[in-house]
Amino acid sequence: MNKHDYDLFVIGGGSGGVRAGRLAAELGAKVAIAEEYRVGGTCVIRGCVPKKLLVYGSRYSSAFADARNFGWTSEDLRFDWPTLIGNVRREVDRLNGVYTRTLEKAGVRIILDRAVLEGPHTVRLANGAASISAKTILVATGGHPMIPKLRGSEHLISSNECFRLERLPASIAIVGAGYIGMEFASIFAGLGVKVTVLHRGDQVLRNFDADLRDGLAEAMRKRGIDIRTNTETAGIEKEDGGYRVHFKRGDSLHAGLVMAATGRLPNTMGLGLDKAGVDLGWNGHVVVDEFSRSSVDNIYAVGDVTDRVNLTPVAIHEATAFAETVFNDQATPVDYAMIPTAVFSDPEIGTVGLSEEAAREMGHVVDIYKIAFRPLKYTLAGRDEKMLMKLVVDMATDKVLGCHILGPDAAEIVQMAAIALKMGATKAQFDMTMALHPSASEELVTLRHKWQAPTPMAGSDAAA
Ligand SMILES: Cc1cc2nc3c(=O)[nH]c(=O)nc-3n(C[C@H](O)[C@H](O)[C@H](O)COP(=O)(O)OP(=O)(O)OC[C@H]3O[C@@H](n4cnc5c(N)ncnc54)[C@H](O)[C@@H]3O)c2cc1C
Repeated sequence: MNKHDYDLFVIGGGSGGVRAGRLAAELGAKVAIAEEYRVGGTCVIRGCVPKKLLVYGSRYSSAFADARNFGWTSEDLRFDWPTLIGNVRREVDRLNGVYTRTLEKAGVRIILDRAVLEGPHTVRLANGAASISAKTILVATGGHPMIPKLRGSEHLISSNECFRLERLPASIAIVGAGYIGMEFASIFAGLGVKVTVLHRGDQVLRNFDADLRDGLAEAMRKRGIDIRTNTETAGIEKEDGGYRVHFKRGDSLHAGLVMAATGRLPNTMGLGLDKAGVDLGWNGHVVVDEFSRSSVDNIYAVGDVTDRVNLTPVAIHEATAFAETVFNDQATPVDYAMIPTAVFSDPEIGTVGLSEEAAREMGHVVDIYKIAFRPLKYTLAGRDEKMLMKLVVDMATDKVLGCHILGPDAAEIVQMAAIALKMGATKAQFDMTMALHPSASEELVTLRHKWQAPTPMAGSDAAA
């Protein structure tokens, strides 16, 4: 007889928890999952999915502007925020239902409650009287926005609140220039809000390739977004019609809303991990080994709560590997090399592999191939914006170590390029690949010259 109530108890019904719970149940385990907010987690409820829908919505303003030279005129263009956000919320509700039904179909018991650990095998629910025991516990509690400790920080909203706004402000100041800050800057600007990005560093998007960082900042400024680097926020004060944001150097700015996009922290506070003897890292993340096992043998953790690579596909991969390891007897580590990622700003970024700077720091001697050109569509539209493509190539092996794109559809292009890089493709193999014409991505397989000269291709400005 099983001495525990469940084979697996999952805390957190987000990307990682749902995948792990479903797979373990399909492999025959008796599984329960506790979710304190809504099944689907950050990605589905207040992250990737609703954000991408807002990105689509915000890009119509530039699409309408670009359409004029293609012969389209539209009188009386108006934007209605309640329509967009209402439809986004309806889609989120639908997905919440899909995730819930998927778990139920697999036989997972869903408990809509907060769960905390009481010991290595015991969990207590916030609204439950008795403790629940499980042979294995998976912590998949994700993360939450980090709100900086500033004077008046109670006035700050985070990405969470952006999905709940009843009306758009006339202006917004966004503190932080990481990917979430840059994405929301583009969303708000596209919807007609005056946007100021406040960043204490000297360029946006730390850790991305320098050409992408410079290119994005320049393009967003051209689109009217005020990006202020080397600007440290000191405090926020309520004033008529919004807030006054004070900077450390003494000046200030008025904004209708102020958003913090200053990073995220793992959800481990008050989770009882100390009672179970689980080791935590410097920012409170659960420390795990290559199989996502914590310092306690039967307690595992996946996703953002482990602060490895905080992306949905990574959480899902870790969850799949966990289920294989623990419930299918196949010890499966996760391979973190060549994870593609995007910034859904406007223009957008797609990137995979090493930045030029990281490659050099790691001791690679590299050749750089890059081109900045006006995509065909922009030539007719009259949009003065360049698309950037860059390959970082290891000189010794000819392997493509990094592929970085700024411009339309960068994310879609990089997802495909990631397959080649993952397979260890060389620059010579990129060159052997026939171009698909006319497309922007054909530039990736026609980059003949190191570093400087644009390769002439018919159908883009590079041909000029
Ligand atoms: C604005 C935004 C945009 C993003 N965009 C992208 C993107 O474009 N692409 C991408 O790949 N990633 C994106 N991410 C990151 C992505 O959402 C996360 O990496 C992913 O959701 C992590 O999954 P997870 O399972 O670790 O945690 P989560 O999805 O956060 O799930 C954790 C769940 O645990 C629940 N929980 C926490 N504590 C408890 C408890 N004690 N008891 C019960 N339940 C609990 C929470 O309510 C939550 O539902 C974005 C994130 C944000 C915030």
